[in-house]
Amino acid sequence: MKKPTRIVHSGRGGKYAPGMINVPVYHASTIVFPTVAEFRQAVARRNEQVLYYGRRGTPTQWALADAMTELEGGAGCVLYGSGLAAITASILAFVKAGDHLLMTDSVYEPARMFCDNVLRDIGVETTYYDPLIGGGIAGLMRPNTSAVFTESPGSLTFEIQDIPAIAAAAHAGGAVVLNDNTCASPLNLRVLDLGADVAIHSLTKYVVGHSDAMLGAAVANEASLARLQRSGYLYGHSASPDDCYLALRGLRTLAPRMKQCGETALRLAEWFKQRPEVDRVLHPALPDCPGHDVWRRDFTGASSIFSIVMKQSSDAAVSAMLDGYRHFSIGFSYGGFESLVLPSNPSGARTATTWAGPLIRFHAGLEDTDDLIADLEAGLERFNAVL
Ligand SMILES: *Cc1c(COP(=O)(O)O)cnc(C)c1O
Repeated sequence: MKKPTRIVHSGRGGKYAPGMINVPVYHASTIVFPTVAEFRQAVARRNEQVLYYGRRGTPTQWALADAMTELEGGAGCVLYGSGLAAITASILAFVKAGDHLLMTDSVYEPARMFCDNVLRDIGVETTYYDPLIGGGIAGLMRPNTSAVFTESPGSLTFEIQDIPAIAAAAHAGGAVVLNDNTCASPLNLRVLDLGADVAIHSLTKYVVGHSDAMLGAAVANEASLARLQRSGYLYGHSASPDDCYLALRGLRTLAPRMKQCGETALRLAEWFKQRPEVDRVLHPALPDCPGHDVWRRDFTGASSIFSIVMKQSSDAAVSAMLDGYRHFSIGFSYGGFESLVLPSNPSGARTATTWAGPLIRFHAGLEDTDDLIADLEAGLERFNAVL
């Protein structure tokens, strides 16, 4: 079955609410048991999809977890209140005091801050590595390296990582491979098949898809699932049933949204590439993007986001360009139906590689591409007028 078909069928309501297309929103904390015997039976089976206590989930959460497990091809899924919580709980599932973590230099910045603060405080050392290192990661492995964290494409700068090569070296050294697969969505990269042990998602982005809920998920293979479930449970993570319902609703249209937003983003990226003001366009589907060959080998499609670096820039010119957009709103996140733009400068968040200067990240929404290009064109006129 192809992914778009799976997206329609996975985690549907019928399994939990016969006849219903969508699983209802179940609000529950206390679950009551008619007899002591039934209570004890639920205690014994509490790690399964059995009504036990609200924090362990209800059919609303289970349906979303089922869908993510199926789409990522894993053994099970743990849900969290945000993507960042999914990242931190996944890391904490596999490291202990005295351990060493290898972290891609292009990681989502709050995850980096977690390593530099929380992990440091509990005695876990982090080494950042060049996202393009590939099999060379073997040279950074230590006897106490317990996890290698990957994110591909990298946040803001879009480097593509050679996950199979990294996973082979990590596994040879006894480490698990965690991957932040948010940018690819469950659609464009089968990262567990490529050797990752845990696929992490900020569902906030493409799965929710409508900029109205925060949620995270981590899908693990058989060998890693028990550790992941243990950390999720003991840190007390839970996901709101209302937000899980929104994620399930968003999921059903993921394939056409990704397709259209991806096509629009590529057209915008190619348009920027022709412009004399633009020095570089960072989009994995463009042949000069770092890791493009690996992207072609491993990914089945492009996402809605890309960045540009201007040849010459000034704060005032960038502000004039962004402030006047009609369709690109200034804001964090991506994956919604509306186009976004984000001024950024990753220079301070790179230590294994160097990055100099500001960039501008775009998210293509579902607006008409010609309208978006007209908006970008007017933006560059404002940029030039102020520069
Ligand atoms: C947004 C994002 C996160 C964080 O997710 P939240 O749901 O906002 O906490 C993590 N990783 C990547 C790649 C992201 O884009």
